[in-house]
Parts: sequence; C-alpha cells; structure tokens
Amino acid sequence: MTAEKSSDAQAADDEPEFNVADLDLGFAEEVAAKPGGEYIRRCYSCGMCVAGCPVAEVEPRYSPRRLIRMILLGLRAEVLQSDFLWLCCNCYTCMERCPQAIRIPDIIRAAKNIAAAEGRLPANLKTVSASVTKIGRLYEIEEFDNKKRVKAGLPELQTKLEDVERLMRK
Ligand code: SF4
Ligand code: SF4
Repeated sequence: MTAEKSSDAQAADDEPEFNVADLDLGFAEEVAAKPGGEYIRRCYSCGMCVAGCPVAEVEPRYSPRRLIRMILLGLRAEVLQSDFLWLCCNCYTCMERCPQAIRIPDIIRAAKNIAAAEGRLPANLKTVSASVTKIGRLYEIEEFDNKKRVKAGLPELQTKLEDVERLMRK
C-alpha cells in the first residue's frame, strides 16, 4: 500500500528553482504592512493550517503554509504569479487552527491585492471586477428577471446601480 502524499510533500516535489539574487527581502514587510498581515513573522511552519484547509484537501499542491513561507523568503514574483494564490476561498478554518493566531486568509488577501494592483488578476476576476465597476452587480438584471421576481411576489431590482458607477469614478 502506498501512503498518500501530504499537501506539503507534494508541493516539495513541485518546488520551483529560484536564484537567491532574485529574492525580494522586502516582500514580507510589504505584506506585513497590509491589514491582517502584521503577524506573518510569527509562523513557525507547524502545518496546522494545511491540515484543516478544504482547498488543500482537493488540491494537494495548495498549501497556506507554503505560501506564507514563500512570502517570508522573499519569493515575490513566484507568489504574485501563482495561480494557487487565488484558490483560497476565505473560509478562515486555517486561522481558527493556527496556534500563533496568524490571520492567514488576510495575509493571502494582502498578496492578492498586491498582485491585483500590479494587474495580475485572473481573467474571471477581471470580468467580475469590470461588471461590478460598470453596473454594480456581478451580472446584469434584465426586465425578464424582474418579471420573474414580480411573479414570485418579490420587489423589482434596479437594472443599474448609478451610485456604484459614481463611487468607482471617484
Ligand atoms: S498554523 Fe500558523 S504557525 Fe502553523 S504553519 Fe500555519 S500559519 Fe504557520
Ligand atoms: S481560508 Fe484559505 S487557506 Fe485558510 S483554510 Fe480556508 S481556503 Fe484554506
């Protein structure tokens, strides 16, 4: 019988090669300066966060511990370009389990925000962002939707939220 590989063991197999000269030693500070990122240096790599993560359970290459280690090491480009960054679903299970009370999802969100500010947003999120910016919703409400709502005894919804558009322009 072969034992199943842990998320971190699998990740170690896929470990990217990197040049020490390319490390960004200010990256951890950059993340720590964001709300919720301030306790990142408390991590002693125990792995409790990975053990409870529902994403790591279905995608063994995903590991919040690994993401934190990469940030601490200064692997800025690798973290910001990683698809794994966007797999976190903000369930906060890892934070509940972390013995160091590290706000892990907030750290991951901080890295996502840095990536987004640099234009590294996945295509699906670009679409969502454009829709929210333009109409204030994830998808357009059409007359057809309102007819169905009225039929079901629900109030009609505005088809466009002008206030959101104004807010986004500011
Ligand atoms: S549970 Fe907390 S201390 Fe342990 S590896 Fe995860 S973030 Fe680090
Ligand atoms: S918040 Fe993200 S990293 Fe933490 S357990 Fe949930 S999916 Fe995993």
